[in-house]
Amino acid sequence: MKNSSFIVIAAIQLFFACSSSNDNTTTTTTETGTVVKVNAADFLSGGLVEPITTVSRTLSDGTTADCYKIVVNSLASDHTMGPWCPTNISDDASKGGIWLEGGVKYDVDGAFVKNLATFYKDSNWMMYNATTGAITKTSTKTECEEAANPNVGAQYKNFCVECLPSYVANLSHTYYIPVTPKAASSPIAFGTGPMSSGPSVRGLAFNGVVFDAPAPTSVILAAYTLAPFDDAGGHINLAAGYHYHAATGLTTKKTQTDGHAAMIGYALDGYGIYERLDTAGNESTDLDASRGHTDTSRGYHYHVDAAGKNNFINSLHGVYAK
Ligand SMILES: [Zn+2]
Ligand SMILES: [Zn+2]
Repeated sequence: MKNSSFIVIAAIQLFFACSSSNDNTTTTTTETGTVVKVNAADFLSGGLVEPITTVSRTLSDGTTADCYKIVVNSLASDHTMGPWCPTNISDDASKGGIWLEGGVKYDVDGAFVKNLATFYKDSNWMMYNATTGAITKTSTKTECEEAANPNVGAQYKNFCVECLPSYVANLSHTYYIPVTPKAASSPIAFGTGPMSSGPSVRGLAFNGVVFDAPAPTSVILAAYTLAPFDDAGGHINLAAGYHYHAATGLTTKKTQTDGHAAMIGYALDGYGIYERLDTAGNESTDLDASRGHTDTSRGYHYHVDAAGKNNFINSLHGVYAK
């Protein structure tokens, strides 16, 4: 009897809880349990143009909150950038980067470039000199700029595109991340272009380099160009600077004491981003559609997708700074 009366009371409380959200009052989503603030000191000074400051910003839910203003130089200070394109079809994997296709991460060594026509089942691929084995690749800032254009001209067909850090030495990009992450009423989709509302950048690695939207590999390939990523999953374009399309484990990480996957950065909403696999090599089985879940030590946090997927996380769980 005691138990059933408890259930009745619980049901009444549930009823009132539901009905109160149906009237015109504003409902706020309150985070329960652990909420881990962004630690500004996690960002490496080598990636910052100026010290991180706290500023008030409007968030995507219309509220105002303290955010960290993070001005980055869009260059990796904690690992070597490149190489991207090998020079000759005889080069081994140490001379080139990686390519991501069909969920698989491939080494872009000389053999990969030699094999492109077979790999993509398209005989128009011919990115090397059949006599010398020299790979056709961009070699100046102008060539990098022109070959990276999605409407690449015919003169850059069958080019391996490689833009060097020296081409983007004076860039800076500013990001605002809420100091205290706050759940959105529903997951926020990433923007896919200038007309869409969500942000396209997913977050920042501890070195200040962005975890970017998936690389438009179909556009790149349609022009018979290859814009490899280096072994750390990054490459350069003149507007964005150095940016990541895959997490391969080469950036600064914070290992966890409980066997959980290591932390590698923050999403744009301030929630932590962690590697895909825990120290035993297992992927979490309870990730939500955003690729996040909650535990008592870390609160809500994300786990990145496999490197070969050309993807990090699927949507934002929390609100972001406009
Ligand atoms: Zn890119
Ligand atoms: Zn986790």
